[in-house]
Amino acid sequence: MAKDSINNYKFIGKSKFNISKFKTDDTGEFTDRAEAVDEFVHNLLKINKLQQRLYAERKEGVIFIFQAMDAAGKDGVIRTVFNTLSPHGVKEFCFKVPSSEEASHDYLWRFWSALPPRGSISIFNRSYYEDVLVGKVHRLYEKQVRPDRLNGIDIIEQRYGQINDYENYLYNTGTRIVKIFLNVSKDEQARRFISRIDIERKNWKISSGDIKEREFWDDYMEAFETMVNKTSTSDCPWYVVPADHKWYARLLVSRIVLQTLEEIDPQWPVISDEELETVQEFRNKLEDSLSGGYIEPEQQLPQFANPGVIAANIVENEERAKIVEKIARRKERGFDAVYKLLDDSPVIGSLDAIIEAVAYAEEKAKDTDIDTDTDD
Ligand code: ATP
Ligand code: MG
Repeated sequence: MAKDSINNYKFIGKSKFNISKFKTDDTGEFTDRAEAVDEFVHNLLKINKLQQRLYAERKEGVIFIFQAMDAAGKDGVIRTVFNTLSPHGVKEFCFKVPSSEEASHDYLWRFWSALPPRGSISIFNRSYYEDVLVGKVHRLYEKQVRPDRLNGIDIIEQRYGQINDYENYLYNTGTRIVKIFLNVSKDEQARRFISRIDIERKNWKISSGDIKEREFWDDYMEAFETMVNKTSTSDCPWYVVPADHKWYARLLVSRIVLQTLEEIDPQWPVISDEELETVQEFRNKLEDSLSGGYIEPEQQLPQFANPGVIAANIVENEERAKIVEKIARRKERGFDAVYKLLDDSPVIGSLDAIIEAVAYAEEKAKDTDIDTDTDD
C-alpha cells in the first residue's frame, strides 16, 4: 500500500484544511475502478486477518467515525469495507436526531454506551460531530435547555474543546479514534439525489429533508472545514476523503482502516509455558482417546472472505458458467482478484482462491449438502 497516498488526505492539526481547494473528484494514481479493485480486495483480506488478531488480543478498541453530507456514500463505504469482518468484534451505530431521552442529557452522553470494548471496532455512522455540524448550521443549541450560568458562552467553540478533551481521554485510556469525512461535491450530490428519485428501488433513500439541507450547503462546508481544523490531532486524525467516485472513496477508506490496524499491530495472545505444558498433556490424552488415531485435517479452503457464499453461488450451473467467464476475463486483463462475482453477491477473493473454490464447489455440487465450514 502506498502510505503517502492516504497521508495526502490526513489532518493532524498541523496543516490547514481548506475545503474550497480540496478536489472531490480525485482518483489518485488510478484512472478507473477496475484498476483499483485488486488493491481493494487485498486490503480487505488483510483487514480481515488483522481484525481477528485485534479481537483475540483485546488490548485496544477502535472507533471509525463517518461524517458527510447526504448521499456522499457513507452507507456504501461502511457496507463494502467492513462486510468481510467477523460480527463478533464489529458494531455499527447510526446516530440520528437525538431522542427525547438523549436530548435530556449532555450531548456526549449517548456515545458512552457505543464505545467499543477492547478488541472491538465501533463504526459511528454520524456522531457527536453532528453537534458542531447540523447543530452549528441551524443553531440548535439556542433551543437547548441549560442553566442560566451557562448563558453567553460560545457553545460551538466550547464543544470543539470538549470533543478534543473527550477524544484525548479515550485515546489515553485505550480507544483509538479515526475520523473520516467523505467529501462530495454539490453537483455529485445533485446527481445522486436525482437517481434516488428516478430509480424506484432507491426511492427509500431520499427525503424532502435531505433536499432542504442542500440549501444550507455553504454553511455546511464552513462547518466541516472548521470541524476538521479544530479537532484534528496526531492521536485522533481526520481524513478528508474525496467522495465523488465511490470506488475511490471505498479504496481510500480501506487503506485508512488497514493502516490503522497495522499501526495497532495486534498480536495473537501467547499462552504461558506452564499452560502450554498442561494443554499438551491434555492433547496427548485426546489423541489416545481417538480409536482411529489423529489424522491431520484436510487442507482448508484457501483464505478469502465468505467462501461459503461463493461455494453456494457456484453450484448453480448457470451462475458457475458466469463466474468462470468473469474470472477468465479478469485474468486476461492481468488482475489477480475480483470484488463482485455476481451482481448481488458481495463476495470478494483472489482469483486463485476463487478458482480453487470453483473446483471445490464443482466437487461438492455432486453431493447434495455443501460443507461451507471454514474455520480460519
Ligand atoms: P440515510 O443514509 O439512511 O439517509 P442518515 O444517516 O442520513 O442515513 P437519517 O435518518 O436520514 O439518516 O438522518 C439522520 C439525521 O439526524 C441527519 O439529518 C443528522 O443531521 C441528524 N442528526 C444526527 N445527530 C444529530 C444531533 N446531535 N442533533 C441534530 N440532528 C442530528
Ligand atoms: Mg439521510
